[in-house]
Amino acid sequence: MTEIVTVGVVGAGTMGSGIAHVFARSGFKVLLCDVDQRVLDRALGQIRTNLGREAAKGRLAAAEVEPALARITTIADREALAAAEFAIEAAPERFDLKAEIFCALDSILPASAILSTNTSSISITRLAALTLRPTQVIGMHFFNPVPVMALVEIVRGLATSDASFTAVHELAVRLGKTAVAVNDAPGFVSNRVLMPLINEAAFAVMEGVASAEDVDKVFKIGMAHPMGPLTLADFIGLDVCVDILRVLQDGFGDPKYRPCPLLVRMVDAGWLGRKTGRGFYTY
Ligand code: NAD
Repeated sequence: MTEIVTVGVVGAGTMGSGIAHVFARSGFKVLLCDVDQRVLDRALGQIRTNLGREAAKGRLAAAEVEPALARITTIADREALAAAEFAIEAAPERFDLKAEIFCALDSILPASAILSTNTSSISITRLAALTLRPTQVIGMHFFNPVPVMALVEIVRGLATSDASFTAVHELAVRLGKTAVAVNDAPGFVSNRVLMPLINEAAFAVMEGVASAEDVDKVFKIGMAHPMGPLTLADFIGLDVCVDILRVLQDGFGDPKYRPCPLLVRMVDAGWLGRKTGRGFYTY
C-alpha cells in the first residue's frame, strides 16, 4: 500500500474540521474541501483556536501550532484531491449526496488511494459498490469533538480488503485514537444503540412524561452518563439525529426507529441544537 502523506477531507463542517485538525496535528498534509468558502474560512479559524487551546493545556507544544496549521490547505475545487493518497468524506448524512461525492472522488483520486467516509449510519457496502475500488472503501467513524474523543469505529464493507483495514487501523493509531472494528450494518454499533435512546428521550418529553432537564438528570445522576441524551442530541445536531434515525428505519425496515415527531418539528423550525443556539436547551 502507498505511504499516506496527503489526506483529503471532504466537508469542513463540525466533523470535517475536527478530522483535518487531528490529521494535521499528527503530521499529515491535509487538503480540506468544501462547497462553501465561508465554511472553509470558519473551519480554519476554529482549528487555529482549538490547536491554541491544546497548546495552552500542554497537550501540544506551542511551537507545533503554526506548522500544523500550515499543513492544511483549503480547497473549493475537489480536483485538487488528485494529490491525496487517502480521502475521508464528511458531508451531510444523505445517501445521494455521499454517492455523488464518492463517484467524483473515485475518478479524481489515484487508483491506489483509500476512500473512506465518516458516515454515522450509511452503508459502506452501497457506497463502495458505486466505485471502481470497492476493496479500498471503508468507514472511518470519528466522534465529536474529534480532537477530544479517542474512539474511531472502523467499518468494513462487504468488499473491504484486509490491506485497506490494516492501513486505516494504522492511520487511527498514528492519530492517537483507539479503533474498534465493526462490520457494515445500519448505524454500526454507536448509533444503532445511541439513537433509539435519544429518540425515546424525545418521545418522553413530547408525551409530557418529564422535562428535558429531568430526562437528562435520570441518565446523568441515575446512570452516571457524563451528559444526558437530550444534551448529547443538541451537541450532535438534531438534524443529524433525524437523518440517522431515517437511515436506521430504512436499513432495518423496522418502524421502531421512526424519528420522534417532536425531533422532526424542531428540525423544521431550525432548532438544530448548539449549532443554531437552540435545541432542547438554549445556548
Ligand atoms: P455539517 O453539516 O457540520 O458539515 C457538512 C459540511 O459538508 C458542510 O460544511 C457542507 O457545506 C459540506 N458539503 C455539503 N456538500 C458538499 C460537497 N458536495 N462537497 C464538499 N462539501 C460539502 O455535518 P457534520 O456534523 O460535520 O457531519 C458530517 C458527517 O459526519 C455526516 O455523515 C454525519 O453523520 C457524520 N458524523 C457526525 C457527527 C456529529 O456529532 N455531528 C459525529 C460522527 C459522524
